[in-house]
This record gives sequence, C-alpha cells and structure tokens, in this order.
Amino acid sequence: MARVWNFSAGPAALPETVLRQAQAELLDWRGQGASVMELSHRGKPFMQLAAEIDRDIRELAAIPDDYAILFLQGGATQHFAQIPMNLAAEGDSADYLVSGHWSDKAAHEAAPYVNVRVVASSAGDDYRTLPEASDLDPRAAYLHYTPNETIHGVEFSDIPAAPEGVPLVADMSSDIFSQPLDVSRFGLVYAGAQKNLGPSGVVLMIIRRDLLDRATRPMANIFRYAGQAERDSMLNTPNTWGWYLAGLTVKWLLEQGGLAAIGERNRAKAELLYRTIDGSDGYYRNDVDVAARSRMNVRFNLHDAALDALFLQESEAAGMIGLKGHRVLGGMRASLYNAVPLDAVEALVAFMRDFAQRHG
Ligand SMILES: *Cc1c(COP(=O)(O)O)cnc(C)c1O
Repeated sequence: MARVWNFSAGPAALPETVLRQAQAELLDWRGQGASVMELSHRGKPFMQLAAEIDRDIRELAAIPDDYAILFLQGGATQHFAQIPMNLAAEGDSADYLVSGHWSDKAAHEAAPYVNVRVVASSAGDDYRTLPEASDLDPRAAYLHYTPNETIHGVEFSDIPAAPEGVPLVADMSSDIFSQPLDVSRFGLVYAGAQKNLGPSGVVLMIIRRDLLDRATRPMANIFRYAGQAERDSMLNTPNTWGWYLAGLTVKWLLEQGGLAAIGERNRAKAELLYRTIDGSDGYYRNDVDVAARSRMNVRFNLHDAALDALFLQESEAAGMIGLKGHRVLGGMRASLYNAVPLDAVEALVAFMRDFAQRHG
C-alpha cells in the first residue's frame, strides 16, 4: 500500500525522509553493526548523538546557554504533575489560563501539588475564544498556558505577558517548532514529541537553568528536573529510539530552512483550508473565533452531521486518514503539523469541494 495523507492529531505524520533514513539505518547505525535502539545509552556513539541533537535544537530555535534541554518520559500528562512538584513549594500557588481540554487537564493534574488559580477560562464560550488574562498574581510560582489546544482547535497568536519575575510555562505539545520561538519569553517549555517532533514516548523540555535550583519539596531524584539536567537526561534508561527519531526530525527542520520557513509553510497550509471552509457557502463550518483559530488543528463540521460517516469513508478511500474529530466534539479535524506537506492540504480541499458538489 502507498503512503496516505495523514491528518492524525497524534501520534501523527513524520517526514517521509526521516522514516526512510531510520529504515536505512535500522540494521547498521553509523557503522555500529547494530540499530541505535540496540546500543547502550551510556556508550560513546549514543552520548555523541545526544550532544549532537542538543546542538541542533539550540541552532534551530536559537536557544541560549542559560536554558537546559531535556528528553524525558511520561508524556506531557505526567509533566502536568511534575512541573508543580519542581517549581512550587508547599503552600505556593500557580496561575493557569484555561483555553481548552488540555489546559483544563493540566490545571486538574497540578492541583494535588500547588494551589491552582484559574485566572481566566473560555469554557463558558465552549472554548471557541481565547481567555483574557487579568488579575495575575505577581507572587505565583509560575503562569501556565497551552499555546495551541489540539482538540478545540484554538491557538494564541500572542504570548501572554506574565508579571515580572513569574516564569511563563507553556505546554507546546501540538505547536513546538511550528514557527519561530522566542524562548527567552518562557521559563519552561515542554512538549510530547508525537505531534510535531517525533514518535510518542519522549517529552522535550526546555527549562531556564535558574528554575532548576528552586527548593520545593522532598521527592525522589527521578522526579527532579535538576537531577535529569545534571545527568544529561540519563538518570535511567531513556527512550533512545524516540530521542534518535526526534533528532532526525530536527535535522529535517533545519534542512527545510528552519523555523521561519516552516512557519510560513504552516501558515499557508492553514489559510488554504480555512479559506475553503469559509468559502463553501455553509456546506462546511468552523465555529472558532477567527482570531483564535489554530494553524495546527483545524476543526470543521459538515452542514449535516448525517453526512459525517460518508465523508470519512470517501476521504479514506481517496487516501486520507485521521480526519475524524475528537469524540468529545464530533465533526472533523485536520491536523496540519510540520510533517504534513502543502500537497496533502491541496488534496484535502480538492476532495472537500468535490464531495460538496456530489452530495449537495
Ligand atoms: C497530546 C497533548 C497532550 C498529551 O500528551 P501525552 O504525551 O499523551 O501525555 C498534552 N497537551 C497537549 C497540548 C497535547 O496536544
């Protein structure tokens, strides 16, 4: 079977050249006579690879030396809990902006470890708008937000301003490296790799080093980001295969021209799809406030939900997968992450126009 156009929300499409390189190196990686996943993480070849990936990420996103880059496990969800463990002491509070499913979950999972203050929420608008932050606490341990909400299809186009001295923490699981990133605006950025960066099972974290020194609470070393930073993310056996694939994807991003080029491409992809939806005379509909529309996850509904099953069946027959919307919201969702080419979006909009004509 040929490769399909993959619009899955996550795990999601990887660049074909990355998969081909991984395939070519599967039996013999860098002359080792073994796959990278069969080698010790403490051996020189893998240690060198880890250092190389660190350098590539620093180059890709212009990350300064006062930030550590960690490769962790547990998914973004585990870090919803581990972030307050590391950044907040007993009795501290932290501010949360709630703009959809994932930021809501982040706030709930943090609650056993920090006094969570939801300072703004767009739940009352069914998450079709962005929450407006006011009354931020200048003594908060941190301010947390989710720049792109994968399920609700809403995205912040501006970085919220945290009060002086309050580190901004961002869950970038579904928008990491999809456009230029000014890391100096953040105290901590984290992302499950499986949307924009690689396979599941790896979390990339970029953390300002002074935050590693916060005295918070007693906990096992395996939970301490400082412990991971001291040991180059190798306190225990890391997901070497996922780390390697994320590294290949970072190299691919550099070859594409870096974040400015990929950002331009992502903007054009989303614009084409939204233009098609808005220009369909109501056949397709996206209910998100225009200023809050996500470039990464485009939600849409057909004018008649009775056509949903047919739309999915025919789109799959036309070589497109992953278009079924999240079960909470129904309808459709096209995820347009880095590895989804413009050709895929062109194929999708051609299919949508054709479908609307045939089932008018
Ligand atoms: C997918 C996703 C998560 C959950 O990631 P896991 O790795 O499954 O824990 C969290 N936040 C956002 C924004 C996501 O898109």
